[in-house]
Amino acid sequence: MLVLENGSTVDFDQLLVSVGRVPRTPKLGLEKAGVALDERGYVRVDKHLRTTNASIWAAGDVTGHAQFTHTAGVNGSLAASNAILGLRRRVDTTTIPRVTFTQPKVAAVGLSTETAATRSELHVVSLDHEHLDRAIVESDVHGFTKLVVDDKGRILGATVVGPRAGETLGELTLAVRHGLRTRDIAGTTHACPTYNDGVWNASIEDVRSRLRTPTAVRALRVLSTTRRRWIGSSLKKGLDSQPDTLRSATPTTTAQPSASCQATGGSREAEPLAAVHAYLVGILGAVAGCR
Ligand SMILES: Cc1cc2nc3c(=O)[nH]c(=O)nc-3n(C[C@H](O)[C@H](O)[C@H](O)COP(=O)(O)OP(=O)(O)OC[C@H]3O[C@@H](n4cnc5c(N)ncnc54)[C@H](O)[C@@H]3O)c2cc1C
Repeated sequence: MLVLENGSTVDFDQLLVSVGRVPRTPKLGLEKAGVALDERGYVRVDKHLRTTNASIWAAGDVTGHAQFTHTAGVNGSLAASNAILGLRRRVDTTTIPRVTFTQPKVAAVGLSTETAATRSELHVVSLDHEHLDRAIVESDVHGFTKLVVDDKGRILGATVVGPRAGETLGELTLAVRHGLRTRDIAGTTHACPTYNDGVWNASIEDVRSRLRTPTAVRALRVLSTTRRRWIGSSLKKGLDSQPDTLRSATPTTTAQPSASCQATGGSREAEPLAAVHAYLVGILGAVAGCR
């Protein structure tokens, strides 16, 4: 049993102690080269990874940036191109994917759900993996997909817990880096059953919730009513143009042609309008009900 500082206790089977890492810079004599260290011993760099010696750039764990293999690689390339080609590329600190390879895996990028809770313009869309086909098929439903979304639908962060969470994070890292919106993900077909389906479903849920505003509901109602009327009038027109024999065979419950809808000028005028309506209904309908 583990007793915490506040006196509470936690039962456990195994204890993992994460002690952290420290840079081994003190005896390198970097100060003689004009390369300053910070108070923790990391090499001090600016946003271009240039050290305090204007002819020396640094990358990797020794700079104190996020300590991952992928960060070391990307920043190494950035530092090299800035140094050799004289570029001014800036280091990216906001879209670094983070994966903890525990069971289940924990993967995150961008803003955390805790940060979202402190900012009114952000909200979290959450999908429990109990509702994810792939998780159900694999009988491993312990997990979730959470997206941090701003008021314009842009994905600013994500946390995924579950099997293959690190792989799922690739799409979300791309989304955060390029300011993609949930509607971009919702409108992109994802294979089923896959774990990425969780990202898709969460995005669709966000788009749906946006369409539940009174204005959107009203617009959809108007469009679908107009569409229904247009289809009704087309049916009537179709019946009118049928030979008498066919018309008489048609059940009497179908639409009855009326004098007004036989006006050809009116119908020609209505077609482009109807096409626009159908297009809008199609878009909204596809977005709202693409699953
Ligand atoms: C146990 C463990 C697990 C990890 N798991 C992951 C993971 O799953 N995913 C992930 O992204 N990251 C992981 N990391 C972090 C990752 O390994 C580091 O972020 C990454 O290796 C940093 O690369 P680097 O080139 O900056 O430093 P390093 O890979 O540490 O390379 C530094 C090199 O410099 C050499 N060196 C040191 N001092 C001197 C000297 N005085 N003279 C000459 N050479 C010297 C070292 O021997 C070493 O070869 C893990 C780290 C640890 C310790």
